[in-house]
Amino acid sequence: MKIAIIGTGYVGLPTGVGFAELGNQVTCIDYDKSKIDMLRAGHVTLFEDGLDELLQKNIAAGRIIFTTSMAEGVSDADIVILAVGTPPHPETGAADMKYINAAATELAQYLTGYTVIATKSTVPVGTGDKIEDIIRTQNPTADFDVVSLPEFLREGFAVYDFFNPDRIIVGANTERARNVLRELYAPFADKSQILFVNRRSSETIKYASNAFLAIKIHYINEMANFCEATGADINEVSRGMGLDTRIGNRFLNAGPGYGGSCFPKDTSAMAYMADENGVDMTLIKAAIRGNRARKTMMANRILDAVSGIENPRIAVLGLAFKNGTDDCRESPAIEIINDLLPHNVQITAYDPQAMETAQKVLPAGAIKYAPDMYSAVSGADVLAILTEWDDFRTLDLARTSELMRHKVIVDCRNLLNPDDAESHGFKYSCIGRK
Ligand code: NAD
Repeated sequence: MKIAIIGTGYVGLPTGVGFAELGNQVTCIDYDKSKIDMLRAGHVTLFEDGLDELLQKNIAAGRIIFTTSMAEGVSDADIVILAVGTPPHPETGAADMKYINAAATELAQYLTGYTVIATKSTVPVGTGDKIEDIIRTQNPTADFDVVSLPEFLREGFAVYDFFNPDRIIVGANTERARNVLRELYAPFADKSQILFVNRRSSETIKYASNAFLAIKIHYINEMANFCEATGADINEVSRGMGLDTRIGNRFLNAGPGYGGSCFPKDTSAMAYMADENGVDMTLIKAAIRGNRARKTMMANRILDAVSGIENPRIAVLGLAFKNGTDDCRESPAIEIINDLLPHNVQITAYDPQAMETAQKVLPAGAIKYAPDMYSAVSGADVLAILTEWDDFRTLDLARTSELMRHKVIVDCRNLLNPDDAESHGFKYSCIGRK
């Protein structure tokens, strides 16, 4: 099939490369010329395991091309996939639809023949209707359907998730569009559940899923607070809960709160939509409030650990919002660092993938960046572990204890073994355990 993908970011790029690998002819469109130039030259613009090789392979096979021209990609496409950002509106917290509206307005004029417009961006319920109106206004004779095709990939596992989705949700209101999507997803028919629903349900499924996962994280973090107050161990509690198949063992890791480009904005957009529709969604609002407070709580723990030390030096391991990605959008690590900065502390940070992206979101010159974990901890008074990279689990504690000025660790991801840390002379604190 001929596929045009508008937006070549964390969703659009792995999706485009994935569909090309399945034998489709893909044109990726982005108005960011520097991204397109890099991709044309065969360089990935973001870190995702396995993406680099797959990109180069499909460029060489002539199955994927990159362009800034909407006309070039859209005019003979069977499917146009919208994968542009839907960031939170700065004032209301609602999903800001300016990129979707601009893309729909622009693409409309280039539609020829029957085309399915599929929205992969996370968009408020009713957006499909609005995109339809925009395209009809711009191009009254266009022959098209708009479907909702929410994306559930996990950053850091985007390539794996593309080929192994838990489920594919298609929100289509016509049989003609459903047939096109059946053909597109035919390679997945044997291994993944493909659920056809109406378009508004599909749009809602995405928000309902993300809000649920955010609430689950908030819940386990509150349970960690309870464990700290009572002497229970949150890791044991999570394990015990997770064995119940009704609960499931995922999203039960206590930590510094959720972040990233999805949960914070999607919970806030969901709360906004609920209010707009006169529905009081108390759980989501509690998760949003609690998650914000959690970052401050973590920053205060780190500040407590250096209280009494003059010009304290803090080593931070981890800047990305989670492991496996270079994405720092709404990263708990970044928010915690921003909370620490006004307290006259010196911070040296290391992250295996996210140093470049972190520099774009942290104030210039605010912290130092170390080339590896041991340079980061060298001379530090406290080590704060803020992202759950596997590398940090294997931190050589003997070496670290020799390098640090004071032997204090605040492990906000429960990566280290408390007994190990203490046996190396560290004052060790973590989340929801001794
Ligand atoms: P992103 O910011 O990484 O990428 C968006 C891209 O769209 C950018 O490269 C931007 O230049 C481009 N763009 C914007 N408007 C354009 C236009 N009119 N024409 C051409 N290009 C345009 O965003 P992302 O993280 O890929 O997210 C995209 C959408 O997918 C969002 O709605 C997000 O909520 C949703 N989503 C993201 C994830 C994730 O893990 N990142 C997962 C599921 C769903």
